[in-house]
Amino acid sequence: MALELRGVEAGYGGALAVQGVSLTVPPGSIVTLLGPNGAGKSTTLRAAAGLIRPRAGEILLDGERLDGLPADAVVRRGLALVPERRELFPSLPVLENLSLGAHTRRDRAAIAEDLEMCFALFPRLKERRAQPARTLSGGEQQMVAIARGLMSRPRYLLLDEPSLGLAPLLIEEIFRKLIDIRARGTAILLVEQNAAAALEVADRGYVIETGQIRLEGTAADLAADDAVRETYLR
Ligand code: ATP
Repeated sequence: MALELRGVEAGYGGALAVQGVSLTVPPGSIVTLLGPNGAGKSTTLRAAAGLIRPRAGEILLDGERLDGLPADAVVRRGLALVPERRELFPSLPVLENLSLGAHTRRDRAAIAEDLEMCFALFPRLKERRAQPARTLSGGEQQMVAIARGLMSRPRYLLLDEPSLGLAPLLIEEIFRKLIDIRARGTAILLVEQNAAAALEVADRGYVIETGQIRLEGTAADLAADDAVRETYLR
């Protein structure tokens, strides 16, 4: 049982952005994928979410092959992506943005339960549920994006740079919620530029550079690693 990428290659046109990436996200854990701009982090997440088709390798979700499936089918199998820059519908109310996260589901009672769970996790979203998403602060919009991901009731949640553009206090607030989400049984693959914040909440981590995994280990080992400290924690 796990989300597993095995030798995944993916790219755009003639260019291979991800060159044989293997990584494992055990159930109920937070795993972070660190690396510089353009290293292939977002491409790795997009491949796992079925938004781009890997050119080689395998992606398994609790033993079942995901690669080659369309994005909707991947969501139905229990994996949701919270994309970089959030990609909300700015003129739609918060509540409708959240409902869109449940568009693959028909179990109304369970959807209502999950909405309440999201409001318990992010009480400010309940207060602002009727407001258009664009009127929310950056931090609140990130909360909407995460909650929308949770509305598909995923076992695995992929987060692409949730700290982007947020003030340090808000980053802390949002990262604490990731621990709550893990406690509810959803595993997280967290892509981050903010390595310090990511290593504080993660169980394990990987460092990707120019499309290849260069280092992996427990979050504590990575935080103590000289190369990681020099490049990502200064
Ligand atoms: P960032 O933090 O800047 O998003 P990243 O590690 O997520 O970096 P990717 O977005 O996966 O990196 O990009 C990996 C490579 O693929 C880069 O060279 C990038 O220019 C290229 N790339 C990304 N998206 C596209 C696209 N839609 N079309 C063509 N090339 C792309």
